[in-house]
Amino acid sequence: MQNNTPNNTPNNTQVLIVGGSLVGLSAALFLSSRGVSTILVEKHRGSSPHPRAIGFTELTLEHYRAVGIADLIPQARPDIRLRRAKVESLTGRWGEETPWTPGQAEPDKGQVSPCTGAAIAQDRLEPILREQALHRGADLRLGVELLSFAETKNGVAAQLRSRDTSEIYEIRADYLIAADGADSPIREQLGIGREGVGFLRTIRSVLFRCEAAEPYLERGIQQFEIEQPGFQAFLTHYPDGRWVLMFSDDEERSEDQLRSAIRRALGQDLPVELITTGRWEMAGRIARSYSRGRVFLAGDAAHQLPPTRGGFGANTGIDDAYNLAWKLDLVLRGVASPALLDTYSAERQPIGWLRHQQTFARPDYRRWAGDRLAGEPLYGAEAMELGQRVSSKAVISTDEGLPPAAHPDAWAGQPGVRAPHVWVNADGRRLSTLDLFAQDFVLMSPDIRWINAGLAVAREQGVPLRSIAVGQQVCFPEDRSFEATFTVSPQGACLVRPDGVVAWRAFGLDADPALILCRSMSQILGRK
Ligand SMILES: Cc1cc2nc3c(=O)[nH]c(=O)nc-3n(C[C@H](O)[C@H](O)[C@H](O)COP(=O)(O)OP(=O)(O)OC[C@H]3O[C@@H](n4cnc5c(N)ncnc54)[C@H](O)[C@@H]3O)c2cc1C
Repeated sequence: MQNNTPNNTPNNTQVLIVGGSLVGLSAALFLSSRGVSTILVEKHRGSSPHPRAIGFTELTLEHYRAVGIADLIPQARPDIRLRRAKVESLTGRWGEETPWTPGQAEPDKGQVSPCTGAAIAQDRLEPILREQALHRGADLRLGVELLSFAETKNGVAAQLRSRDTSEIYEIRADYLIAADGADSPIREQLGIGREGVGFLRTIRSVLFRCEAAEPYLERGIQQFEIEQPGFQAFLTHYPDGRWVLMFSDDEERSEDQLRSAIRRALGQDLPVELITTGRWEMAGRIARSYSRGRVFLAGDAAHQLPPTRGGFGANTGIDDAYNLAWKLDLVLRGVASPALLDTYSAERQPIGWLRHQQTFARPDYRRWAGDRLAGEPLYGAEAMELGQRVSSKAVISTDEGLPPAAHPDAWAGQPGVRAPHVWVNADGRRLSTLDLFAQDFVLMSPDIRWINAGLAVAREQGVPLRSIAVGQQVCFPEDRSFEATFTVSPQGACLVRPDGVVAWRAFGLDADPALILCRSMSQILGRK
C-alpha cells in the first residue's frame, strides 16, 4: 500500500496533506472522492498501537456516508449513549452517574440523522480510511516526514524525507493541509497563535485486555471515574475488548506498578494482559486563524481539546476536512474564486472556539476554567453535532441573532445550518435528503420556475448545480413537507451547498429567479 520512495512517483499534486492520522486521512478521502489529486505524508508507518479516539458522531458518519464508506464502519445502536459513573472500583461500590449535559435528557438517536455514530478504536478506523482513500486515487506515503515548506508564487514547495532511505526530495502543491497534530510544526512556522485555557496536565495511560471485566459493562456504563483514598484514575473500554486506565499524574510506572494500579481500579485480581502505555498532554487551545495563504490547519493542529463525551477532538477535525474539501475542489476547478477558501477559517474557527467553551463550561472540565464560563449556555449533544450554525460569505442569511447551535428540530432550513435529514422518495427509492447533498450544489423547489432558473444558471455559469423538482423528482412525506422542513412557501426554493449546509433560501418566487440565483451563487463562490 505505502509508497515511500520518490523514484517514479509524481512530485506535483493539487493538495499536499501532512499528517496521516484521522483528520489527514479523512481529508485525503474527501478530496480524492472529488477527484482532487492528493499526496498525504505521514512520518509513522502505521497507526499508533495506543488508540485514542473511539467515539465517532452521527455527523462524522454522515460525511463518511456521503463518500460511500459508512457501511464499512459498524454503527452504534440508536439507544446507546456514552455513559459515565463515579465508582470506588469497577467491581466495587458504584456511585452516581454523571451526565455530560446536566439538566438535559439525551434523546435516542435515529430521528435526526440517517446515521447513529460509531464506537470504533482509532487504530481500527484508520486502516479503513487508508484503504478507501487509496482506492480513490490518493497517494499515501507512510514513513515520510515533512522537513520544511515555503509558499511560492503559485503554490507550496515542501521538503520531505523518506525515513526508510533518508532520501530528501521536494513536492510542489497548489495547497497544503496541516493535519500534523496539536504540536503542528506547520502552524508554528506560520506563527499562528492559539487561545484558550492552555495546558492542563500530562496524562499517562495503560492499555490492556481483561475479559473477566467485560460483564461489568452490561449495565450500559462504559466510563468509570475511580475514586479511592490516594488513588484517582479513569477507566474506559474499547468495544474490541481493550481497556485503558488513565492516571491523574505523570509518573512512569514499572510493569508491577501498572498491574497493581489496574488491580486497584478493577477492585479484584482479574487476569490482565498488558498491551502498551501512553503519555499525552491535556490542553484547551484553539488557533486564532485556521489558514494563512495557501496553508490550512485542520484537526488538532487547529484545535486541541481534552477528550470529551461530545467527541470534540477527531470529530471536529473530520468536519473541518469536510468543510474544506469541496471548497478546494471548486477553486482548483476554476469554478470558484480563491476567496471561497477564506470562508474555511471564517466558518471553522468559531466552531472550534464554541467547542472549547462548551467543554470548559461543563462539569467534567469546569474546574479548569474557574468562573470564566459561569453562565455560558450549554448546548446538548445533538445541537453541537448536528445543529451548529456557520456564518461567512458562503452563506446568504438575513437572520440575525440566531444562536450558534440548537437542536436540529429547532432549525427549519436557516442558511448556515446543516440541511435537515428527512426520508424522501426519489424515483421509487427511499433516500435521506442528505444523500442528495453529497456532491454538488442542490437547488430544491416545488416551483418549475425556480427549477428552470437553476438549470439555466448551471448551464450558463458552468456551476455544479443540480436542480431537483420537489413533488416530481423527490417526494417528501406528508408529515414533513418540503415547505415545513425549509420554511418556504410552495413557490419558494432552497439552495444547499456541497457539504450539506443550507446556503440560501427564498420564501417565495422572485421576479427574476435566474438573476437572484445567479447573484447568490456568485457571492457564495466568491466571484464578486
Ligand atoms: C485518550 C483520548 C481519547 C480520545 N477520544 C476521542 C473520541 O472518542 N472522539 C474524538 O473525536 N476525539 C477523541 N480524542 C481526540 C483525538 O484523538 C484527536 O483529536 C485526533 O487524534 C486528532 O487527529 P489529527 O489527525 O488532527 O492529529 P493526530 O492524531 O495528532 O495526528 C497528527 C499526525 O501528523 C503526523 N505528523 C506530525 N508532524 C509530521 C511531519 N512533519 N511529517 C509527517 N507527519 C507528521 C503525526 O505522526 C501524526 O500521525 C481523544 C484523545 C485522547 C488523548
